[in-house]
Amino acid sequence: MSAVQRIAVLGATGSIGLSTLDVIARHPERYQAFALSAFSRLAELEVLCLRYRPTFAVVADAGAAQRLQAALQVAGLSTRVLWGDAGLCEVAAHEQVDAVMAAIVGAAGLSSTLAAVEAGKKVLLANKEALVMSGDLFMQAVRKSGAVLLPIDSEHNAIFQCLPGDYARGLSAVGVRRILLTASGGPFRETALAELESVTPEQACAHPNWSMGRKISVDSASMMNKGLELIEACWLFDARPAQVEVVIHPQSVIHSMVDYVDGSVLAQLGNPDMRTPIAHALAWPQRIDSGVSALDLFAIARLDFQRPDEERFPCLRLARQVAEEGGTAPAMLNAANEVAVAAFLERRIRFPEIARIIDDVLNLEAASTVESLDAVLAADARARARACEWLNRHG
Ligand code: NDP
Ligand code: MG
Repeated sequence: MSAVQRIAVLGATGSIGLSTLDVIARHPERYQAFALSAFSRLAELEVLCLRYRPTFAVVADAGAAQRLQAALQVAGLSTRVLWGDAGLCEVAAHEQVDAVMAAIVGAAGLSSTLAAVEAGKKVLLANKEALVMSGDLFMQAVRKSGAVLLPIDSEHNAIFQCLPGDYARGLSAVGVRRILLTASGGPFRETALAELESVTPEQACAHPNWSMGRKISVDSASMMNKGLELIEACWLFDARPAQVEVVIHPQSVIHSMVDYVDGSVLAQLGNPDMRTPIAHALAWPQRIDSGVSALDLFAIARLDFQRPDEERFPCLRLARQVAEEGGTAPAMLNAANEVAVAAFLERRIRFPEIARIIDDVLNLEAASTVESLDAVLAADARARARACEWLNRHG
C-alpha cells in the first residue's frame, strides 16, 4: 500500500460521499480522493473535482463525460472522465486504488461494489442494497479475493466494533447470543396509523436524528431500512435472522449492541453523524479524528427502548420473511422497494402503498438458491416489472 491511501468514492455527490470527502480532507497526509463518481449532480461533481483533483471522475453517460472533461481541462486539471457502469467498475478495481467507498444508492451500485470486492480491495460498504441483493455471491467473492469488507452502515459498524476480532469463527463460537439492531423508528414512530395515508415525501424525508439521501430517508420512515439492515447483518456476521433483534431506540445514540452468553451486552455509542463509522472504517484498525463532536451524555440524559410495531411497519415483517426465505427473495424485495419508494417520492402512491406493492411482488416465485449474478439480476427485473404493473393498475 502507498503511504497516502488512494480512495475511490463511488456516489461522491451523495450524503455518504460528501461525509467521506469531509473525513478525507481532514487527513491529507493519509488519504487522497483518487476517483469521484456522480449521476445527476454534475455541477456538484465539477466543484468536487476542482477541490479534490481526483485522477478519475465517473459520470452517467458519454455526453456528460465529454462536457465535464472539457470543463476540467479548461480549469487545468488532468482528471480523466469515464462514464457508465464500465467506468465505475474500472475505477473500483483500478490497481492504484487502496480502498473503495461504495456509496451509490440502490441496485445501481451492485456491479461496481462487486468489482471492488472481486479486485480484493478494502471495501467500505454503505450500499447495503448490493449485499441484500446478492448476499451469498457477494460474501463468496469476499472470501475468494481476500477483500477487506468494512461496514459503513452505522449499526453494522457498531456491531463490528462490539464483536471480537475472530468473529468469523462463528457467532456462537465467540459467545454471541444475539445482535441487537437499533432503529430510531423514523419520523412516523408515533404518527396515528390513519394519518400515514396522507404523509408527504417531505415529511418522510425529515428524519428526526439523521440527515441522509431521500431513498434511505423513506426507507427509515417505513422501517424497510431496518429490514434491509437485518438482511445485511445476517450476511456480514453470518447470523440467522432469528439471532437479530430489532430494538427501537429513538435517540439514535446507541448504534447497535451485541448480547453475549455470559449476560454482557456491548454497545457502541456516538452522536448520529456518519463521519464516525466512515473514519472508523477508513483508518481501521487505527482511530482518527472524524470531526464529530464528543458525545454529551448529560445533554442526552436518557436512552429509551421499544419493541417495533409490525402493524405500523409492515416492511419490517416482509424483510424478515425474505431473510428467512433466502434465495432470490431479498433481491425481489429490494427491487420492489426501490420502485415503490421512487413512486412515493414522485407522489404517484401513498406511503402505506409502499408495503402493499412489495407484498404483491413477493407473490412471485423466488428461487431458493442464488446460482449466479444473472439470476439475481433476472429476479430484480421480474420484481421491478411486477411493481410497475401494480403502479399502472392503480395509477
Ligand atoms: P444519496 O442519494 O445522498 O447519494 C447517492 C449517490 O449515488 C449520489 O452520489 C448519486 O449521484 C449516486 N447515484 C444515484 N443513482 C445512481 C445511478 N443510477 N448510478 C450511479 N450513481 C448513482 O444517498 P446516501 O448517500 O444517503 O446513501 C448512499 C448509500 O449509503 C445507500 O445505499 C444507503 O442505504 C447507504 N447508507 C446511507 C446512510 C446515510 O446516512 N446517508 C447511512 C447508512 C447507509 P447524484 O447525486 O449525482 O445523482
Ligand atoms: Mg443504518
